[in-house]
Amino acid sequence: MSPDDLVRPEILALKAYHVAEAQGMVKLDAMENPYPLPPELRRELAGVLSRVALNRYPEPTGRSLRELIARKMAVPSGMELMLGNGSDDLIQIVTLALARPGAVMMFPSPTFVMYSMDATFSGMKAVAVPLREDFSFDCAGFIARMQAERPALVFLAYPNNPTGVLYPQDEVVSVIRAAPGVVVIDEAYHVFAGRSLMPRLPEFPNLVVVRTVSKLGLAGIRLGYLAAGPQWVEQFNKVRQAYNVGVLTQAAALFMLERLEVLEEQAALIRAEREKLGRSLADLKGVSVFPSQANFFLVRVPDADRAFEGLRRQGVLVKNLNGPSMKNCLRITVGTPEENRILLTALREVL
Ligand code: PMP
Repeated sequence: MSPDDLVRPEILALKAYHVAEAQGMVKLDAMENPYPLPPELRRELAGVLSRVALNRYPEPTGRSLRELIARKMAVPSGMELMLGNGSDDLIQIVTLALARPGAVMMFPSPTFVMYSMDATFSGMKAVAVPLREDFSFDCAGFIARMQAERPALVFLAYPNNPTGVLYPQDEVVSVIRAAPGVVVIDEAYHVFAGRSLMPRLPEFPNLVVVRTVSKLGLAGIRLGYLAAGPQWVEQFNKVRQAYNVGVLTQAAALFMLERLEVLEEQAALIRAEREKLGRSLADLKGVSVFPSQANFFLVRVPDADRAFEGLRRQGVLVKNLNGPSMKNCLRITVGTPEENRILLTALREVL
C-alpha cells in the first residue's frame, strides 16, 4: 500500500510549505522582528509563565486575551474577536467554513501562498487574478472578474506579501462593496503600514479583518486574531479547534500586549531602517526595488538564483522567489542596522 493509492490527488500534487535551514545565518527570509525583548522583561515574563497551570486546558476562547486585544487594537464595539494558532489558522478556518461545494476563492496574485493551499485543502476553486507588472492592483479588472466568478471568499493582503505593496484604501473598499461574499483583509503587516480597515468594520457586513502578532515580534508564540461581526464569528468558531491557542501563548500575549509600547518602539525602529535599506538597495547597480509598506523589500536583480546562492554562501538567508510571475525577484526582510549592513556588503559582492 502506498500513499499514491490513498492520499487525495490534489494533496499528492502539492509541495509542502518550504522552510529553509537557518542555523547560524543572518536570517532575512521570514519577515520576523529581529530585536529580542529587553532582559528585564524576559525575566519578568519567565516569572509569569512559571505560574501558568500547565495541567489545565486553556479557556477555549481566550476571553481575557480577546478583551485586551479589543482594547489595545481598537476593535470597534459590536465586533467580535476570534483567536488563532497564528493567522494561518484563522485563514484556514474561514476557508473551511465557506467551502461549500463549487464555492470560489479569489485573490490578486502573487500573494501569500497559504490562501491557495487552503483552497486546495478545502476543495474550493482558487481564482488568482494577476497584479500588474509593477505588482500594483488592477482594481477594475479584479472587480470585473469577481462579477464573473462570484467568489464566496476574497483575500486581500494589506500590505501584500511577497511584494510589500499597499493597495490604495479606496480600491480595497470598492472591492469590499462589490464583492458578493466575504472579503478578508489580511493585515499581517499593518504595524509597518500604519493603515487598517479595522475602524471601518462596522460599515461592511461582509468584511473580516485578520491580523497576527508574528511580525510585531512574537512569531514564536503563534497567535493571530480575527475581527468581524458576531454573526460570522459564531460560525467560524464551530470550525475552530476547541483549544487552538495554548495557555503559554495566552499568558505570554497578555503580558506583552500590556506592554505593547515595547513592540511598537521596535516596529518604529524597523520602519526607520526600512527607509535606509530601501535607499541603499536602490543605489546598487542592477537592483530595482519595489515600494514597500511592510518590513521587507521585494527586489529584482539580474540573476536571482545566483544572487540567492551567493548570499547564502556568505551566511545571509533571503527568500528566492524567482519564477514565472516573479522573474529574478528576491524578498529581503528588514533586519537590524548590523544585519542590513552585512546584507548590503554581501549583495554588492554577488551582483
Ligand atoms: N498573512 C500574511 C500576508 C503573511 O505574510 C503571513 C506570514 N508570512 C501570515 C498571514 C501568517 O502569519 P502567522 O501565521 O505567523 O500569523
